[in-house]
Amino acid sequence: MSDWQQRFDDRIMRSIGRPLAKLEHGTGAWVTDAAGTTYLDFLAGIAVNSLGHAHPAFVEAVTAQASKLAHVSNYFTTEPTLELAERIVRLAGAGSDGRAWFGNSGAEANEAAFKLARLNNSGGARTRILALVDAFHGRTMGSLALTGKPHMRAPFEPMAGGVEHIPATIEALEASIDDAVAALFVEPIQGEAGVVELPAGFLEAARATTERHGALLIVDEIQTGAGRTGEWFGFQHAGIMPDAITVAKGIGGGMPIGGLVTFGRASDLFQKGQHGSTFGGNPLATAVSNAVLGEIERAGLVANAAARGPQIRERIAAIGSPLVGGTRGRGLLIGVALTEPLAGEVVAHSMREGLIVNAANDHTIRLAPPLIIGDAEIDEFAVRFARALAAAHAD
Ligand SMILES: *Cc1c(COP(=O)(O)O)cnc(C)c1O
Repeated sequence: MSDWQQRFDDRIMRSIGRPLAKLEHGTGAWVTDAAGTTYLDFLAGIAVNSLGHAHPAFVEAVTAQASKLAHVSNYFTTEPTLELAERIVRLAGAGSDGRAWFGNSGAEANEAAFKLARLNNSGGARTRILALVDAFHGRTMGSLALTGKPHMRAPFEPMAGGVEHIPATIEALEASIDDAVAALFVEPIQGEAGVVELPAGFLEAARATTERHGALLIVDEIQTGAGRTGEWFGFQHAGIMPDAITVAKGIGGGMPIGGLVTFGRASDLFQKGQHGSTFGGNPLATAVSNAVLGEIERAGLVANAAARGPQIRERIAAIGSPLVGGTRGRGLLIGVALTEPLAGEVVAHSMREGLIVNAANDHTIRLAPPLIIGDAEIDEFAVRFARALAAAHAD
């Protein structure tokens, strides 16, 4: 065991497993560990580092804003905060009724959305909240109650009340919904479940049934947002308008920030004093998010994500590994289905080949590279991933 592993084991809370490496610095899609080994980063901090590492736009925004004003509290506002609210409402297509609230993480965004759902109570008549089996919405108590993985919830029971998990089928949705449902939470693609897409027509059906019953449709865009799937937000592939989306991960490009964006009547639910966060929406975080989203727009990275996804999937198919059963996902959120439960071995061999990928579960490798990748990174990925698959298969 190396020194850093011992220090980690001694002092970091046991809730986190031992890390794969101790990283030191990075540039673009490349990151270097403390021992000097350089890796091609096809995970990007789990869909967070949209611009890769140390992008000039990110560095410049942190530096400029930190030297001006980092934090002011909710008793004041700042230009970066106003600008980010306007920007994210515009990118989400929420129109003139759109509003944004900012916090510091994905879980915190979903906590805000949970409270929004409770406010849609029709005088106390709406006590039910629907979410999907296998959903992942975060680790705090409210977001955990929404998470459809019983083994994650069990040690922390009792959960916040009223949440029911239904299978992700249109039939289950139509059988479950009634006028007592306050909200339905969905991920456009279930990232943590192994990059699992919703059935065709599910979001459209969810929009129609929630509207019919007065329930809010709340889309968790924490992993799928900020251009990753080849649209600004995953719901936009379905051409629907939700009542709210939650965002985090990729909108900050490495700066901790999350948020709730509301559409239409959902924008009128929160009243003065009903929600807040000391750090939430501070000028440092919002200035960096503006720079990240601005660079994604300027450099056409949403279109890049749309184009590079199929290119990567073709290259994976061309490897012809018997370990690969197929690929799933959209844009640069890709699940590689394995024919054997060897995802952990594939990750370990990838690390040896200087490639960072993720085991979403035993049977799935998740890829979420930065949106800036081009031909050179994809060529490197194909070579390294082929070697890692071959080594894992040979074990
Ligand atoms: C990561 C994630 C969350 C939780 O975000 P944190 O920032 O880790 O709290 C919630 N929902 C989805 C879909 C996610 O991918």
